[in-house]
This record gives sequence, C-alpha cells and structure tokens, in this order.
Amino acid sequence: MAGLLKDKNIVVMGVANERSIAWGITKSLHREGANLIFTNRQERSKKKLEKLLEEHDIPSKLMVSLDVSSDESIQEAFQEIKDNVGVIHGLVHSVAFAKREELKGEYADTSRDGYLLAHEISAYSLVAVTKAAKELMTEGGSIITQTYLGAERVIPNYNIMGVAKASLEASVRYLAEDMGKYDIRVNAISAGPIRTLSAKGVSGFNEKANVIVEKAPLRRNVDQDQVGDATLFFLSDLARGVTGEVLHVDSGFHIIG
Ligand code: NDP
Repeated sequence: MAGLLKDKNIVVMGVANERSIAWGITKSLHREGANLIFTNRQERSKKKLEKLLEEHDIPSKLMVSLDVSSDESIQEAFQEIKDNVGVIHGLVHSVAFAKREELKGEYADTSRDGYLLAHEISAYSLVAVTKAAKELMTEGGSIITQTYLGAERVIPNYNIMGVAKASLEASVRYLAEDMGKYDIRVNAISAGPIRTLSAKGVSGFNEKANVIVEKAPLRRNVDQDQVGDATLFFLSDLARGVTGEVLHVDSGFHIIG
C-alpha cells in the first residue's frame, strides 16, 4: 500500500451501494492509507456499506448517521466524530437529492418546494458540513464535493439539479475563501455521467453517456475509480496549492462545443 494519506482521518459522506461515486472514492483513499469515517442517512445504505467494507477488507474507524436536512443531525454527527476520532484532515461530500418528477420535462415547471429541497440537500449541505468539519480540522484540511456539467450548461432533464449544482460550485469558491486562512482547501470534481442510483433518477441517462463516447476527446465514459483517484489527489498534499477549483473528470467532454 502506498501512503499519500497515511495517518489522515477522512470523513466520507454518500456511499449508498457499490455503484456510488463515494464507494470509488473509498477504495482510492483506503489504498493510500487513510483512516476512514463514514456517514449515512438511511439504515439500508449503512447495511450495504458494512457489507462492502467487509467484502473488500476495508476497515472503518467510525460510522455515524447523518441527515444533511437537519442541523441537529449534522451537529450530533460531528460531535460523535470529535469524541471518537478527534482531529480530521479531509471531508468527502458526495450527496445530492431532487424530486424525481422535477428531473424531466421543462425546468420552468419546477415547484417552489422542489427548488428549495434540491438546494437544501445538494448545495446548502456543503456549507453546513464545512462549518461543522472546520472545528475538527485543526491541522488544516481538504474538503471535496461532487458536481456536474449541468451547472454550467443546459443539459436536458437535469433541470433543478443543474441550478443547485451551480449554487454548489459558487459555494465552493466562497467557502474556499473563508476556509483558506485555516489552511483548509475546498474543491469540486465535475464527473461525467456514471450509472448510479441517483443518476437513474434523471431521465435520459443513456443519451448522456452515449454522447461522451461519441464526442469526448477520450471517447469513453469515466467510472467511479477515476473520480476516486482525482478525489484522492485533492485530499493529498499533492494538491496543497489548489483551492476553489472545479476539476472536470469527464474524458474532456466539457471542452467540446
Ligand atoms: P448515490 O445515489 O450512490 O449517492 C447519493 C448519496 O446522497 C446517497 O448516499 C444518499 O444517502 C445521499 N443523500 C441523499 N440525501 C441525503 C441527506 N438528506 N442526508 C445525507 N445524505 C443524503 O449517487 P452518486 O454517487 O451518483 O451521487 C454522489 C454525488 O455525485 C451527488 O452529488 C451527485 O449529484 C454527484 N454526481 C453524480 C454523477 C453521476 O452521473 N452519477 C455525475 C456528477 C456528479 P442515502 O443512501 O443514505 O439516502
């Protein structure tokens, strides 16, 4: 095992199953020697994660329950991490949600509560967990979130999630400025389409994946492991000069007009 993250305590949010981007990230971080702390919302996801960790022989330092829609839950989760682990060096935010019915048809039909919900879970959550994590990042740190090209361009059906991701990416920049003085970096990865539970909620996944194979410079789709390795870079000292950045891990698709 190499050791880019040896002795680093890293919190991973958002493993729902073996297809989750956060699971690809988990494998990369483990390979480089990180101590891993996991948070889950649903009990079902926690059970799946426990099974995956056992199958892959990956130890977990701690597992806590965390629903980003509740300030109390965020506070309790980070208190539990503080009590059991103390200092943390990294946080992986791989969490988003929007109502399925808003991920098709016209963006103009977005409901008020659908708009607010998508922003709360997919964008505000980064602000809230950054504030909580900062208290435990007393030796400096690195925070990474997951975004998508729909923040920059109109992608059919992505609708409210694209607007929430735009808010998320702007939050990365504002948070990077706030956290920089504490030696905490904040960055995002903009991955190409990957077939996960969440991706299935957006209509027209196949078209999105097919266009990458057809048009992206690398002419192939990306996978969870590629996002995992890019996330690892941001969490490691190799990226010590990088903050407020959105890195595309999308076979180069974003440069094509
Ligand atoms: P998954 O469905 O595997 O992961 C989504 C995670 O979000 C789940 O673990 C889920 O937890 C968690 N979550 C949802 N609501 C809450 C909440 N209220 N509190 C805490 N956790 C919550 O999908 P992905 O791996 O695809 O998604 C991870 C991130 O990657 C998302 O931000 C997504 O937008 C982004 N992304 C995905 C792309 C793709 O093509 N798949 C492309 C680019 C970005 P639980 O299971 O416990 O409900």
